[in-house]
Amino acid sequence: MDYVKLINCMRCGMCLPTCPTYKETFLETASPRGRVALIRKLQEGELDQSERLLDYLSLCLDCQACASACPCGVNAGELVAEFTCERKSDSGLSFMETLILHKLVPHPDRLETSMAPLRLYQSSGLQKLVRTLGILKMFPKPLERMEGLLPPLPSRSLRQEINEVTPAVGKERGTVGFFLGCVMSLVFSEASRATIKLLSSLGYRVITPRNQVCCGAPNMLGGDLTGLKEAAHTNIEIFGSCEVDFIVTDCGGCGAELKKYHHHIDDESSSAFSAKVRDISQVLALHADELASLLKPLPLKVTYHDPCHIAHCQGIRAEPRDLLKRVPGLEYKELEAADACCGSAGTYNIAKPELSDRILQRKLDTIRESGAQVLVTSNPGCLLQLKKGLADQLPGVKLMHLTELLALSMSQYR
Ligand code: SF4
Ligand code: SF4
Repeated sequence: MDYVKLINCMRCGMCLPTCPTYKETFLETASPRGRVALIRKLQEGELDQSERLLDYLSLCLDCQACASACPCGVNAGELVAEFTCERKSDSGLSFMETLILHKLVPHPDRLETSMAPLRLYQSSGLQKLVRTLGILKMFPKPLERMEGLLPPLPSRSLRQEINEVTPAVGKERGTVGFFLGCVMSLVFSEASRATIKLLSSLGYRVITPRNQVCCGAPNMLGGDLTGLKEAAHTNIEIFGSCEVDFIVTDCGGCGAELKKYHHHIDDESSSAFSAKVRDISQVLALHADELASLLKPLPLKVTYHDPCHIAHCQGIRAEPRDLLKRVPGLEYKELEAADACCGSAGTYNIAKPELSDRILQRKLDTIRESGAQVLVTSNPGCLLQLKKGLADQLPGVKLMHLTELLALSMSQYR
């Protein structure tokens, strides 16, 4: 790890009020400043890697709100993730981690097959029975949590259904590659279908390579830098062989990871790849007037939750809001602390359920106060977490991906 990144912290504390774990615990060791100090002391040999120290570091959500607040460019979340990667490269992955990160995640076909039992669980009515009878209470807590987060699954993944080439509607203005996030394709396929529809309606030919693989974010989360680099090499080669103006994603987590490929692989092709990556809101914002002309009235009160991977990691805040405000009849209501994490953070909501629930509760309280009928966001982790939270506490609030709402408003969309 670059020691300079650690000593840049001048301990001003400006990051503290933005850190979700500090807000819940008021512990210096659970703050960005404290985490930087802990890693620095470890590097300087003044602290040992005790279980307690690792526990404190593991509380970090990697939401990067601290990076947005820091005047010195320190990114505590990224430093904790780097530290985890370095530690894992020394200690190696566990059997389970190897199985998931090397044998399952990089293989879309295996991932899709692994969802079949869950689909059957839902379609057979077993899920309803299990939930009604509260049977999951007899199983380990993490399993109960995972089941509770499971939304209704589509019958097939989008990757299996979508044509590799979707032609432009009307005059073609360019070609984009569409990056299918794993969870978007497997769980939120309707939102990605809407994304492709919007792009083609704006005159883009959309290429969705079927052999693309996971962006590597789960590998990064698991401290598996080797797996991340393999994923990056594969995707760079696949999209490099297509002539595209942009590589578009509607998944905040994927976008943040794809834009960082050139940090992990130091060559021209990775820089060229990362330079082409755009969040869908960035591409739609380029054609906002044209898009607005296609939109029909939606008389709804709508608010927007900034996914950390879009606001803090990619610096995209204005585009989604501007696009929503273009929908005729839509009343936009800004959410208080809209860019505060919802507590999802990959598998954090399963690994640290209590803290995750407290962070989610703050978000739900602000949604309630907003009085919105629809909550919009653009990251599958947030969608899963908020769907569960809304179902439990605010069942009248509908949750939509940004592209779903825009496509709903679009005249051509069916
Ligand atoms: S991480 Fe940045 S904001 Fe936080 S204490 Fe250090 S210098 Fe200040
Ligand atoms: S990444 Fe998020 S949780 Fe981690 S230190 Fe920064 S603000 Fe706190």
